[in-house]
Amino acid sequence: MLYNEFKGLQLPALGMGCMRLPGDGYAKPRIEEIETEQMIDYCMQNGVNYFDTAWGYHSGNSEPLIGRLLQKYPRGSFYLASKFPGYDLSNLGKAEEIFEKQLEKCRVDYFDFYLFHNVCELNIDGYLDDEKYGDFSYLLKQKQNGRIHFLGCSVHGDIHVLKRFLEAYGEHMDFCQIQLNYLDWEFQDAKAKVELLKKYNIPVWVMEPLRGGKLANIDKKYADRLHALRPNESMPAWGFRFLQSIPEVKVVLSGMSSLAQLKENINIMSAHKTLTETEWNELQAIANDMASANALPCTGCRYCVDHCPMELNIPWIIDMFNEIKLTTGVVPVIRMRSLPSDKQPSACLQCKACEAVCPQQIKIADMMQTFAEKLN
Ligand code: SF4
Ligand code: SF4
Repeated sequence: MLYNEFKGLQLPALGMGCMRLPGDGYAKPRIEEIETEQMIDYCMQNGVNYFDTAWGYHSGNSEPLIGRLLQKYPRGSFYLASKFPGYDLSNLGKAEEIFEKQLEKCRVDYFDFYLFHNVCELNIDGYLDDEKYGDFSYLLKQKQNGRIHFLGCSVHGDIHVLKRFLEAYGEHMDFCQIQLNYLDWEFQDAKAKVELLKKYNIPVWVMEPLRGGKLANIDKKYADRLHALRPNESMPAWGFRFLQSIPEVKVVLSGMSSLAQLKENINIMSAHKTLTETEWNELQAIANDMASANALPCTGCRYCVDHCPMELNIPWIIDMFNEIKLTTGVVPVIRMRSLPSDKQPSACLQCKACEAVCPQQIKIADMMQTFAEKLN
């Protein structure tokens, strides 16, 4: 396993994400305990001693299982990360109650890493309203008294959300998790997020390195282009090597669902093989092709917005529509829920005033209708 230096620690370049454990699937409550135990043991035997769980993973079943399975190892031999679930607004103001329960569920008396979970459009105002909720102050205090070793955030919101969060709390953030992979480098502005974090001197932890597994099984026409460059390289290896080429990245978290996947990823992350310039460019060209094949080509010019009688944030809604088409996660759905009902796709009047001014000739009204049905 490769290691990266972080504040005097040697962190494994690969961490075990605990939201896609073996069982009934992503976010489902039932976890296959025997296979999960084999995976944890294999991790510990092979240098992957970073485990990233959260209050909500597997409907609350990830934390207690991971905590129990790690009991057989000395506390100082592994790093455990969990998160404050402020993506659910009803949890705001409950940091103390939830944090205490999490320590109990995980059978530990401190977390090595603790994060504000899923900072996005939905909760940014709440996260920043420390006077009202006090969650930030409480967690900062836990860091000061040693019950949190490193405080961070996982951010799914756009660059503006990240900016606001960092302006308020950046000086206290030891690390930040973002969705980063070769498709999202441009598509989800991950490049701009990495650059912004660099300004704050905050290292990057990666979520969704293979976009929920989608980049491990890309279309044959794209895979052929990569095979032409390196005939023996697997698709997951291309995804991980892309991340190895970004110096700000310290830990790549992968939500692995089987021992075979874990072994493959450990094997890849045991060799440092950054991309050549040609390889980097080809991967970006493929990412652009993938995005344009699947996404509506909105340029964000906002001409449509001024003509919409409902004042819908059309380019943002298109972004979310594209995101949902390209992802397996629930995060874009959560972000959509941050919109009030009169700003949802279902509020569209089908008047097509927007389409008359769209230089890209996007069928906006159809998209709104399809999106509203999908969200329902
Ligand atoms: S079709 Fe919908 S999105 Fe377009 S201008 Fe009319 S109400 Fe707004
Ligand atoms: S006018 Fe068209 S391209 Fe411009 S923001 Fe609206 S939907 Fe996007």
